[in-house]
Amino acid sequence: MKIKKLPPEVISKIAAGEVIENPASCVRELVENSLDAGAEEISVEIKNGGIECIVVKDNGSGMEKDEIPLAVSRYTTSKIEKIEDLEKKITLGFRGEALHSITAVSRLTIISSVDESGEGWKGEFSFGEFMGLKPSPHGKGTTVVVENLFENLPVRRKFLSGPKQEARRVYQELVNYAFWFRGISFRFRDNEKEKFYLPANQSLEERISAILGDEFRDSLWEVYFEREHIKIYGFVSKPDYLKGSAVNQVIMINGRRVKHDGIRKAIYRAYNQGERHPSFILLMEVNPSFLDFNIHPQKKKVKFSKGLRIFEKVYMAVSETLAKEKKNIGTSIAIERGVYSHGRDRFQMVVSEPKNERQGEQLEFGEVSVKSELQPQYEYTPQNIWQVHKSYIFAQTKNGIIIVDQHAAHERILYEKLKNKDYSSQTLLFPIIVELTNMEASIFEEYEDLFKAFGFEFRKLRGSSVIIDKVPSIFKKITKDFIRELINSLEDTELLPEKFDSFLKTLACKAAIKFGDSLSQDEMVALLDQLFASQNPFFCPHGRPTIYRITLEELEKRFGR
Ligand code: ADP
Ligand code: MG
Repeated sequence: MKIKKLPPEVISKIAAGEVIENPASCVRELVENSLDAGAEEISVEIKNGGIECIVVKDNGSGMEKDEIPLAVSRYTTSKIEKIEDLEKKITLGFRGEALHSITAVSRLTIISSVDESGEGWKGEFSFGEFMGLKPSPHGKGTTVVVENLFENLPVRRKFLSGPKQEARRVYQELVNYAFWFRGISFRFRDNEKEKFYLPANQSLEERISAILGDEFRDSLWEVYFEREHIKIYGFVSKPDYLKGSAVNQVIMINGRRVKHDGIRKAIYRAYNQGERHPSFILLMEVNPSFLDFNIHPQKKKVKFSKGLRIFEKVYMAVSETLAKEKKNIGTSIAIERGVYSHGRDRFQMVVSEPKNERQGEQLEFGEVSVKSELQPQYEYTPQNIWQVHKSYIFAQTKNGIIIVDQHAAHERILYEKLKNKDYSSQTLLFPIIVELTNMEASIFEEYEDLFKAFGFEFRKLRGSSVIIDKVPSIFKKITKDFIRELINSLEDTELLPEKFDSFLKTLACKAAIKFGDSLSQDEMVALLDQLFASQNPFFCPHGRPTIYRITLEELEKRFGR
């Protein structure tokens, strides 16, 4: 290995900045160096959250005697020579300033050997000063010891959190690498206690189970998606396991964990979610020429070039998985149970009875879904159904009751009808004339086709008025204000899938029955049946629950029986 000074034009291309912020960022840089050195085993040990001491040991290529001090001087790296390399390289770090930055703020020791002779060299550095080299026994690989972090910068040190929290950050950092580099074994010790040992060559699934538990693993579905320039692999929550808060959301791109709002939004969008939170561990391999990591000094952010259309790719990857898995569940349950043929015919509309496995497989997504698994618990008797406060429907089930939010339920039904184009267009007896503001008129112009696609027919008048002649048949009544609201819902979303979806949601919301609308027995039954026939009956398109179930068991508990 040759260590060289970076040419000045490369230096200027790389945004300089603070690299070392806390023990975790220090560990990140050291682990990346170990990975870049081709290590197969990496062990990390910290004391007092890493503030007192961090030790990172690897069995990588090691460094020669003279390379040790050179590695620590600024802008020295063995990883790039020319600017073009910046674009090609998928290596983790190539800024040539990590060791330099670390030694500036700590007592740094590097012991390294390039072979199995057992002999190596130890270089010692103290707060920016080189203290000398001496022979030291070491197997092939490198051990880096960082002590007394920020001792020379009391203000920076004061900004560190307590040892427990700093240790948690280190742990999180290592877990990220463990997810990505599954061929490499990782060990982590915190205050002399072993936190994990992950053997080499585990699958992502095994690592998720080992780190986050089997139960969590069981709440996930596997994602695999490959297109030109991008591969997305990992696990996402099953739709029934969404949570009230955002936990275990990991996005890694080319070996690095990043935060990226667009990607996150795309995932939520695939679930049609705004309020409940999926967990996900998604690993993406992206052609590096579509990426820029060096916009952030700690490489936590990444910029995608437009050509990649990352939003769309992520959205597709997750929604394809959800669709495929829902279909699988529906199919297997249908086959197992003979499709509710044991039950009443209330659910027959969900799926026609497949006679054999093949036919089951051919069912279109949308006919059967994850709800099938749960459906028997929601089977109700149509004779025992009540509307309460003109808002909620109570129905008796085999072992309890269900309560349904009539508006949310209808929203869900209409949303799916719209999505599946399962409605016609109806002519208005009295066409509606809407006067639009300039802003509204320009939005409307841009999205005329969208309105047409959903069954609106209209004529444009001089100025900025339109006459609406036909509307989708899902509407019982339609007003000027509603048309304006629809147009405005298109204004502030930026990307196409989102626009399309927010348009659907607004349509569904406006057309749905409201709180305060009274319903007849037949209407209630129709509403519940259609709800259960939808793909995702448990949540309205905005992510609020539609159904609340109380079992007899629960009631008995409440009454102390
Ligand atoms: P960069 O990683 O950007 O090259 P660093 O300051 O992190 O810059 O490291 C400087 C150089 O030191 C690396 O390019 C590499 O040659 C060498 N080095 C650092 N850590 C290790 C290690 N664990 N094993 C082998 N070589 C290392
Ligand atoms: Mg480095």
